[in-house]
Amino acid sequence: MWNYHSLDYDYPPYRPPNEAGSALIRASRGCPWNRCLFCTMYKTLKFQPKSSEEVLKDIDKAAKIYARAKTIFIADSDSLVMKDIDDIIKHIKLRFPYAERITSYARAKTLMKLGIDKLNKIKKAGLTRVHVGLESGDKKTLEFLKKGSTPKEMIEGGKVAKEAGLDLSFYILIGAGGKKRLKEHAIESARVCNIVKPDFIRLRTLVVQRGSLLEEKMKEGKYNPTSPVEKLKEVKIFLENLDVKKCELASDHFTNYIWVGSNIVYRGIYGVLPKDKKDMLGILNQTLKFLEITDGEILDATILYERGMINSL
Ligand code: SF4
Repeated sequence: MWNYHSLDYDYPPYRPPNEAGSALIRASRGCPWNRCLFCTMYKTLKFQPKSSEEVLKDIDKAAKIYARAKTIFIADSDSLVMKDIDDIIKHIKLRFPYAERITSYARAKTLMKLGIDKLNKIKKAGLTRVHVGLESGDKKTLEFLKKGSTPKEMIEGGKVAKEAGLDLSFYILIGAGGKKRLKEHAIESARVCNIVKPDFIRLRTLVVQRGSLLEEKMKEGKYNPTSPVEKLKEVKIFLENLDVKKCELASDHFTNYIWVGSNIVYRGIYGVLPKDKKDMLGILNQTLKFLEITDGEILDATILYERGMINSL
């Protein structure tokens, strides 16, 4: 899959894995928060909303080249903070008549601050889904990672998005609590999901990136990353505690994989909850059992990244 982007689009084009085939419209550059310890995406960039004029022109240009796009993703990380975002979305809807899905990243706190009236307008303009980084439902883990939102705010933001009729995709960061808060992170993340009832839960495994603020904490001994087996156990606790309906769970990123030697032995869990919960738990139990008896070296994306075998995440 590939993304269309206009010639003005700056790199790298960060977007969720499932938007790999979407037309990308960059309404703003960077992240207005930009302080999460684990994130390196926009650290060299000051948040900058683009002018309406610039974005509308970009949309026009994109629509000429990618006229039949069915899915559109609005970048960067929190463009819903822009005052004129509903006009931008209306223009996307107008210029991409075949669009079935228009989505954006959004911070839960931004959704909470926008409130139901503004979100209703945004939905009416044509936005269909928001991708929100919950990362963890554990208060201490969120504080440690400097996520800038409490579980309570995550819940409020998620709920108001749902109330406005937007599809909600929550991202859970496996390993976010490190060894110390593995259990609390898993249980509390499930608790927040159970309250908010997102439409999608997407798992992404934390890899401490070179140059990240989290790497500094790790070197100071303040963050202790989990092993591949611990990561699987964390996913299992999270899933066991999940009680959501009509919710699609996906592990749609290679950071979730586990290798034994050069073979991938785990590609994550996928399914619709609650229907597929038993099968997904079966996969986790089977993999854990296999990892107990294997003689091969157990590897994950963190280990491969540290060894320089993976350079880009
Ligand atoms: S809110 Fe998102 S984009 Fe911004 S720093 Fe945190 S993880 Fe990165």
